[in-house]
Amino acid sequence: MLFDTHVNLHAEAFADDLTDVIRRAREAGVERMISICDKLDSFSRIREIVEADERMWCSVGVHPHYAKDYGSLTVDAILERAAWERVCGIGETGLDQHYGYSDLAAQIECFETHVAAAQQTGLPLIVHTREADTETGDVLERGYGAAPFPILMHCYTSGETLARRAIDLDAYFSVSGILSFKTAESVREVISIVPRDRILLETDCPYLAPVPMRGRRNEPAYLVHVCTALAQLWDVDEAEVARITTENALRLFKRVS
Ligand SMILES: [Zn+2]
Repeated sequence: MLFDTHVNLHAEAFADDLTDVIRRAREAGVERMISICDKLDSFSRIREIVEADERMWCSVGVHPHYAKDYGSLTVDAILERAAWERVCGIGETGLDQHYGYSDLAAQIECFETHVAAAQQTGLPLIVHTREADTETGDVLERGYGAAPFPILMHCYTSGETLARRAIDLDAYFSVSGILSFKTAESVREVISIVPRDRILLETDCPYLAPVPMRGRRNEPAYLVHVCTALAQLWDVDEAEVARITTENALRLFKRVS
């Protein structure tokens, strides 16, 4: 059994054939999925998708890209939605200076609101970080020092220093199709230092289709190729990767059964 810990099924790219996409995922052995929330305005649509499928869970949060639109975001607004038992994580949240859609101060404030929600619920914080290694490490350490909470560094492509800081906070890391890209040698090197009992798989679909599907719309069925990329990195077979990463995901996402 495979567990896709990061799918964006409410994306426009799936508007026409979501049922087929989910069927193909199941045929490929992807039996659990977490539908990720990018902004509170998307939550009711995500909830609809999750309610229609008993092997689907979701998160609640605001992506750093949208931090500027949620300047008045409160912890309560997140907690209210996280009360639903199929919400298994807080986010995705974090810092992104690559696109810089929202200024850094707004992103940090939004990120810290999510940290507080993770502290209060005990649900894992799903962290997106890009070109903000130092600031991301600082927010996580500050929050964790005040009251520990579970952390997932999703689609991790950042540096080794931040990876080590996060490992010290007992964080989990998820790998995506990027792991299969020829040019991603530095990502493979960093992922190699993460303990194997801390690694999960994700597609981040419809983005980041793995080799040999690169350039196409990504979908959860392609998680098998992410699994293959990790099997090559670890030099074990795919079944072993599926077993370890699914076990890890179920340990982290306690509301998923
Ligand atoms: Zn992300």
